[in-house]
Amino acid sequence: SGVPTIALNNGVEIPQLGFGVYQVPPEDTADVVSQAFEVGYRHIDTAEMYRNEKGVGEAIARSGIDRGEIFVTSKLNNGFHRRDDALRAFDRTLADLGTDYLDLFLVHWPLPGIDVDYVETWKAMEEIYASGRSKAVGVSNFNAHHLRRLFAETEVRPAVNQIEVHPYLAQDELRAFDAEHEIVTEAWSPIAQGRVLGDAAITAIAERIGRTPAQVVLRWHVQRGDVVFPKSSSRERMQENFALFDFELSTSDMAALTGLDRGERTGPDPDTFNYVP
Ligand code: NAD
Repeated sequence: SGVPTIALNNGVEIPQLGFGVYQVPPEDTADVVSQAFEVGYRHIDTAEMYRNEKGVGEAIARSGIDRGEIFVTSKLNNGFHRRDDALRAFDRTLADLGTDYLDLFLVHWPLPGIDVDYVETWKAMEEIYASGRSKAVGVSNFNAHHLRRLFAETEVRPAVNQIEVHPYLAQDELRAFDAEHEIVTEAWSPIAQGRVLGDAAITAIAERIGRTPAQVVLRWHVQRGDVVFPKSSSRERMQENFALFDFELSTSDMAALTGLDRGERTGPDPDTFNYVP
């Protein structure tokens, strides 16, 4: 497929490009993910919060692709941060996905101010990892201060930190912190849900090199070394977003994209977001 893999800190290889299913309606998910497999994607990013794990599982079953050829990530939902709840939520995720292991399981949000400390949650993730039923475990939306507490109070280093990253939120400080600690950064909403695609600097680069704005932005992520999984329900866009490995951005185009950073989030701020369903 031409998609490179990146080695996580425990040796597990993750395809650098995957397919995200946030906001794919549950009833459409099996068909959408089946199309993504046909296009060539072999890495799916879902979450219990997205309510579409069953659809992802149905697509995996239908595909006939060996389970070992597909990298599956899911996430622990808010509301299940207590140890026992986390272990049960993980079992439910496996059952809904129709698989006996995950490639990667993440704590979806750190949830400041709730009555469960995320250190307890991480210790449950360590138990899941030790059981062998998730080949790697990691976090999402953790800032450096959250990670430092895990380093001080727990044993297993998160393999990834999945955070919002795109040209309007370049996140260079947190990405550098992740890298210093052998944590791979995964960039969620890599095209800011489409918001960056009309940017004049991005469309100018795209026109000059004969690529689409989405390809330019996704290629920028790839060259920075982050993992991405853009979401689309259209087959054409799935193909467009998959065609990233036959061109390169120049150093100056890379710098121009990074220079668009304006600290602008499309999603919630992890230091205040504490929604529990
Ligand atoms: P995204 O940046 O991938 O943008 C997706 C939207 O952009 C699509 O709905 C479509 O409207 C548009 N689009 C896609 N391809 C396009 C193209 N080639 N040209 C024009 N428009 C295009 O946004 P996302 O879905 O929020 O993020 C990707 C994935 O990241 C999610 O599906 C999910 O797996 C993950 N995610 C994780 C968290 C988290 O808290 N961990 C939060 C948000 C998203």
